[in-house]
Amino acid sequence: MRYGHRGSFDAVISRHGGCIGGTGVSVRRSCCAPSVVTAALRNIDWPEALLFDCDGVLVDTEAEGHRVAFNEAFERKGIPHTWSLEQYGVLLEVGGGKERMNAYFSQNESVEPWASIKDPEERKAFLKELHEMKTDIFNELIESGKLPVRPGVVRLIHEAMDAGVKVAVCSTSNERAVSNIVKVLLGDKIAANMRVFAGDVVPKKKPAPDIYNLAAKELGVNPARCVVIEDSKIGLSAGKAAGMRVVVTESYYTKAEDFSEADAVFDCIGDEGSENFSLDDLTTPGSFWLNPPPPVDPLEEFCEQDPSADECRVYE
Ligand SMILES: [Mg+2]
Repeated sequence: MRYGHRGSFDAVISRHGGCIGGTGVSVRRSCCAPSVVTAALRNIDWPEALLFDCDGVLVDTEAEGHRVAFNEAFERKGIPHTWSLEQYGVLLEVGGGKERMNAYFSQNESVEPWASIKDPEERKAFLKELHEMKTDIFNELIESGKLPVRPGVVRLIHEAMDAGVKVAVCSTSNERAVSNIVKVLLGDKIAANMRVFAGDVVPKKKPAPDIYNLAAKELGVNPARCVVIEDSKIGLSAGKAAGMRVVVTESYYTKAEDFSEADAVFDCIGDEGSENFSLDDLTTPGSFWLNPPPPVDPLEEFCEQDPSADECRVYE
């Protein structure tokens, strides 16, 4: 028998509830184990974790945050480049700030800074220093409070936290910058409960699934029960490669990207009164999804964690 739809609680509880009335089985040791009780108290169809990308999802940082900070860093370093809104849109195809600058400078080898820096190690050190400067400038922008949180982000995070669903940020941007956005813009309650996985904690950046694999492992959740919120094709690919469902909320630079692989696509999450979706919509399987995932069998999951539990034995 498979479970997964709302209403399946009764079936689950009745199978575990034998400890109250007795089932005729002589050994019943774990019917009231904390994990079973916790599962019974929650909506089992909710995701186990919501994993948010940062740039473009929490805040539309690219156009007026990161791009402005890159340009300011170039100016302070005397580098003769200014990235326009249109140009930066193309450069975003390269994930990671250092990698993005390296790709651009390498396309313009005859112009500074690569015109006078040829040694690969020197280039690496230069990029590191320049990126740190850019990050400082970006953090100043965040701390100024001038960058608004995107509609519905705070609402959805609070809904998840209130329901006991884990929340985290998974970004390949600099860890300091991501943590700063969470602390300064999302408020103390969220900052205290939202894990941040960012920067160089994994060897491969998005579209590799590494950052999402790490988050699932650290949070102790099943990837198939995670919902990722992304705004770009790179992020979408990362989430899908990790075996997770992905909701895309488009941002300034990503509207024209191919999201055919996504499980749902919206222009934003949406504040109360104009919300595009809420936590209740993210159930498994649910009609919300473009490609509904198979239902989840909570007993099967429980037994995978503890095959020796009495509930997992086959009784004659
Ligand atoms: Mg993004």
